[in-house]
Amino acid sequence: MQRRDLLTQLVAGCTLSLAGCAHIPSSRAKPRVVVVGGGYGGATAAKYLRLFSNAAIDVTLVEPNPRFVSSPLSNRVIAAEMSLADLTVDYDRLHARHGVTLVRDRVSAIDAGGKFVVLAGGARLRYDKLVLSPGIEPMIEPIEGLAAAHQSGQIVFAWSGGAETLALQRQLAAMRDGGVFVITVPESPYRCPPAPYERASLVAAYLQAHKPRSKLLVLDANQDVTAMAPLFKRAWRDLYGDLIEYRNHYSVVGVDGADLRLRFDVQEDVHADVINVLPPLRAAGLAVDAGLANVNGRWCEVDFLNFESRVAKDVHVLGDSIQAGPMMPKSGFMANAHAKVAASAIVAELRGDAPNPQPMLANTCYAFVSASQAMHAASVYHFVTDQGRFEPIAGTGGASAAWTELEARYALSWARNIWADMLG
Ligand SMILES: Cc1cc2nc3c(=O)[nH]c(=O)nc-3n(C[C@H](O)[C@H](O)[C@H](O)COP(=O)(O)OP(=O)(O)OC[C@H]3O[C@@H](n4cnc5c(N)ncnc54)[C@H](O)[C@@H]3O)c2cc1C
Repeated sequence: MQRRDLLTQLVAGCTLSLAGCAHIPSSRAKPRVVVVGGGYGGATAAKYLRLFSNAAIDVTLVEPNPRFVSSPLSNRVIAAEMSLADLTVDYDRLHARHGVTLVRDRVSAIDAGGKFVVLAGGARLRYDKLVLSPGIEPMIEPIEGLAAAHQSGQIVFAWSGGAETLALQRQLAAMRDGGVFVITVPESPYRCPPAPYERASLVAAYLQAHKPRSKLLVLDANQDVTAMAPLFKRAWRDLYGDLIEYRNHYSVVGVDGADLRLRFDVQEDVHADVINVLPPLRAAGLAVDAGLANVNGRWCEVDFLNFESRVAKDVHVLGDSIQAGPMMPKSGFMANAHAKVAASAIVAELRGDAPNPQPMLANTCYAFVSASQAMHAASVYHFVTDQGRFEPIAGTGGASAAWTELEARYALSWARNIWADMLG
């Protein structure tokens, strides 16, 4: 279907040409989509809903933060290789170039029956379609002492970009030479499989340069490194020798923030100078509170053809909040791809058409292993109709043969490209 025809039908449900329809509606007659969360999924969805509909849908993006701050590359901020400003992009162009209405607030409740959301500021926003990409929240309660240690700032997660990234950078910079820095990794699935190991690599690079008598312990609840395992292990051995020690099957059950001590289900306590706990994760609070996290109370099950929630009609959930298919990582690249499939399907539905029956997704995760070297793993997924889900296409994708400086330049370009795709 031509875009001008699409616009015509979206705006007025008529069959006239674009020119013929132009006089009919006020903007109030346009379908309304509210997008919650201006991260990798939400910002992309807001922009592409406007692009795919040729601006025939009113799109409102609700996001509490004044600017987008990326989690990808934030491990380089912890290791003092980049600044937070380098990872920050304005939302302005979504409005100026694409006509997205920006609301700086937080959604506090969803009324899926009444088809409106309630903002923390008290206002209600009505929608025809709701898109949620609110990301993740840590599950703090199962780890004894973590709530208090986190609240006091003794133990930070630094898993959603921003202020905690800088707090962890300060803890690393203040650590004594000869100290022990611990990173704990939760059981999979969690946000960005390679990210804890990238963090370990970059912290090790920092320690090697600035505090070479120190030690980095990676205490992993999983059986093995969950992404690019042979590459990471080879990089740690070749680049850092004994500085990094990796231990598997370490599940944190308690922490003491004042004494900087970790307790595990089986092993002896570990004492450290800096502790970076990555707690288990679940879908963000808004999705959980709205009853959308129907998989173990943690993740939101969706229809992968349009990303509509399995439990709430006209509510579409994207990004890290969803229960993903096999081998589908929780990544910014994936959230960006989910958003385009969802935006295309929503536009089709609003004009009365069926969504694309054969959507595809792709993902590339870059990981730095030192200040100047990176590597990647890539994958391509197709929709398998009889399974109703995405699966990786055998024989596609793969990982780098080794880490290189060229890949480090590609990793930085990847970030600039995806930010431009979402927000440019
Ligand atoms: C250290 C680290 C490194 C990473 N590296 C990579 C990488 O190299 N490549 C990659 O692809 N991915 C990477 N990721 C993963 C990536 O950051 C996430 O997968 C991605 O951000 C998920 O997008 P999202 O839209 O689901 O959530 P987010 O990008 O987290 O966006 C969620 C947004 O929703 C907003 N929000 C939440 N609740 C509400 C509410 N109630 N009302 C309004 N707004 C709300 C938040 O403020 C936030 O802006 C990394 C992550 C980390 C932590």
